[in-house]
Amino acid sequence: MENIAVYIHIPFCLSKCNYCSFNSYPLASFTSSDIDKYFKALLSEIEKNRELLNKRDITSIYFGGGTPSILEADRYRELLSCFNIENVQEITLEINPGTINKKKLEEYSDIGINRVSLGIQTLNSKLLNFLGRVHSKEDAILALKEAKEVFDNFSADIIFAIPSQSIKDIKIDLSTIVDIGAKHISCYSLTVDEGSKFFKQGIKEESEDKFTKGYNFIKNFLQDSGYQHYEISNFALPSFESKHNLNYWNGSEYLGIGAGAVSFYQNMRIENINDPILYSNGDYPSKIEHLTKNQQINEYIFLNLRKSEGLHLKDFKEKYNFDLYQRFRNKIEQLRKNNLIKVENQRLFLTSKGMNVSNSIFIEFFV
Ligand code: SF4
Repeated sequence: MENIAVYIHIPFCLSKCNYCSFNSYPLASFTSSDIDKYFKALLSEIEKNRELLNKRDITSIYFGGGTPSILEADRYRELLSCFNIENVQEITLEINPGTINKKKLEEYSDIGINRVSLGIQTLNSKLLNFLGRVHSKEDAILALKEAKEVFDNFSADIIFAIPSQSIKDIKIDLSTIVDIGAKHISCYSLTVDEGSKFFKQGIKEESEDKFTKGYNFIKNFLQDSGYQHYEISNFALPSFESKHNLNYWNGSEYLGIGAGAVSFYQNMRIENINDPILYSNGDYPSKIEHLTKNQQINEYIFLNLRKSEGLHLKDFKEKYNFDLYQRFRNKIEQLRKNNLIKVENQRLFLTSKGMNVSNSIFIEFFV
């Protein structure tokens, strides 16, 4: 049976962070009956996909948002009862440190969640305030410690290239998280996306130079601390890579449940309607796109090159029936000379220098 990963979107947050352009809404703008209806719609969307799910091995379930930890474990119990969770290796729930305590974490663990991902972002109080996070530095440190007491496997997200953030600030964030013992760390640079408060305020992204300095520092610091840089933005202690995200980057199928969730299966991309109320009324999916062969190939190349392991040329040839190396021989040789890409044992992968400019390399391989 083929593998599939399941993503379930919980679009509610305490308030909107200044950099956020995700499909998320303040919880206070919904009634408790709206939330009941939303969860009923999630259940019915899972049932609607029962036939597909019965033909697949579910490798992971991921509750993302929004802020899934804004709601109690009971909300998730019923959703998890729709799956045979004994056979699901990884069940993750995203946590905002301002919304949990140890008891709540224990209740999540009791219902079968075996991994939590904490949105720490930074441990600098001024920068937390600038980002509009609802939690303090102290909340974040306590949440990390409590997550460690309850879960063997926990991850922390941080943001770098924030205006006025120094390398010393990043070092404090990383060393605190590493010392507490996070098994996995995701590091994203601050982007100012349309739809965010920062965009409306005209906040500018930091320079490429500041991005590169921060990113290089993170790579060196985490690798020296024993973490493997297994994907452009992700680092893990050995065997703690995110199974859910690896499923995306391997180009495998995923089923997205909930408002704004995206699915990819049987060479279709399906995007649900964003509005949680319309979604709850049964208005999904909103968009179905049948991917052409070239779109499938582009996506496969782009996703696989994100991983340090890179793309297996032999697997690619078997899957798409053409030789990627021959097709892009000149470009690959040029990128190789510039130390941006390597080819070893039938693997094509970005070097550390190449990861700094990954987007400009990906477009070289569009078919
Ligand atoms: S907690 Fe996450 S999803 Fe919610 S507003 Fe902040 S960044 Fe957006």
